[in-house]
Amino acid sequence: MNENIRSHYFENDDKMHEECGVFGMYDFDNNDVATSIYYGLFALQHRGQESCGIAVSDTEGPKGKVSSMKGMGLVNEVYTPESFEKLKGNIGVGHVRYSTAGASTIENAQPLVLNYVKGTLGLAHNGNLINAPELRKELALTGAIFQTTIDSEVIAYHIARERVNSASAEEAVMKALRKVKGSYSLVVMSPRKLIGARDPFGFRPLCIGKRDNAYILASESCALDTIGAEFIRDVEPGEVVTISPEYGIQSYKDMCQEKHARCIFEYIYFARPDSVFDGMGIYESRLIAGRCLAKDSPVDADMVVGVPESGNAAAQGYSLESGIPYGTAFVKNGYVGRTFIKPQQSQRESSVRVKLNVLKEAVKGKRIIMIDDSIVRGTTSDRIVGMLREAGAKEVHVRISSPPFLYPCYFGTDIPDREQLIAYNRSVDEICKIIGADSLAYLRKERLVEISGGRQYCHGCFTGEYPVEPPKEDIRGEHEDFKRGEDSKVK
Ligand code: SF4
Repeated sequence: MNENIRSHYFENDDKMHEECGVFGMYDFDNNDVATSIYYGLFALQHRGQESCGIAVSDTEGPKGKVSSMKGMGLVNEVYTPESFEKLKGNIGVGHVRYSTAGASTIENAQPLVLNYVKGTLGLAHNGNLINAPELRKELALTGAIFQTTIDSEVIAYHIARERVNSASAEEAVMKALRKVKGSYSLVVMSPRKLIGARDPFGFRPLCIGKRDNAYILASESCALDTIGAEFIRDVEPGEVVTISPEYGIQSYKDMCQEKHARCIFEYIYFARPDSVFDGMGIYESRLIAGRCLAKDSPVDADMVVGVPESGNAAAQGYSLESGIPYGTAFVKNGYVGRTFIKPQQSQRESSVRVKLNVLKEAVKGKRIIMIDDSIVRGTTSDRIVGMLREAGAKEVHVRISSPPFLYPCYFGTDIPDREQLIAYNRSVDEICKIIGADSLAYLRKERLVEISGGRQYCHGCFTGEYPVEPPKEDIRGEHEDFKRGEDSKVK
């Protein structure tokens, strides 16, 4: 099928996307971690829908033997029951990917599997390295040949190199991580250990779980629930952990620092509402955002509705605070996969309508407060507001549970260029007119501390103040989506 009539999984929405989800497991008793990794990745599917992969190994077997299977598409499209007959092992790592740097191709799918002097390494990475171009150049000058265009390969190469002069795999990981700058939550499978690491700012989440005699590392706690594992704790920002039968969990905190910068969008939009990120429940966080909106931007109305899914909890919060009844206005069709044929402009169907329909009897004749988590370009918002009006809504007041986007992200989120952002160089009133709402209000920046439960967070995309100096060149340039215009990205 011609690629331009296929849809990105979420191409028809006006959202930014998370780069990836990672999952690792070491079972000290059983030789079948692949199926649990599959279900773990399935729970993390919202973090990346372009490609997925699983790599497993047997810690009792030969050091260089790793079985892996990667594919383009959703987890349940790539794996069949037969896949697991070939994926036997007691240690493994998995990955779901949405590309924010590096093209969307099978070569760039993870986990990366690399043979090196001490055996074979499997690595899965969530995040973006801001110094990847320099490090890649440096490695290339010393003879490295890269198989992919993703920055994660730079980490894998450095670990392999450092391993030659390191006493252990974790020592090699720590030496390699001292060279990289940016965001990473990593799971690494060495021949005999599972290793997890989070960058010193803690941009992306990573947590540890346990089920019987197996340990798990996962991007989000919802993946632990899915496989029946108990949440143990988060990997701390800057911490490296190793998991082995001899020592259980070992922790290395040499890179930990006081300054943290959790991506606030994990709370607002990326993470699943049933996950807990560094001690703060995502659902709770979104309820607080809704309550704040109700306090700061009240409006008289008959019903509060959320744009599914991430707008729902904030809408409930708005309703609880304001006393205005919470209701359902939208029915979402969740079956939009990678091979979804995107409606052409000449066709009557629109991607928004295909994904979302309005419950006419619920909104007819009512004054509606519609809560969404963000507006990126604004092209979807005007359609949704229009759909509510067509369905008979008397008034549509839009409340957004994040501040306006004004700056790019360099840490693993695909916020487009400034010129494409609706809030760039426009007032809130102007944006309100463009999306056709009766009123519009965003979450105030001062409220972000409340939704993170007082934890330190990154707010670079709202303020342009990043926790680390952003790169001079556009590190996102290799990804084709950034070069696509509004027309191709949002229909
Ligand atoms: S710039 Fe925005 S999207 Fe990027 S890490 Fe910071 S808060 Fe998250």
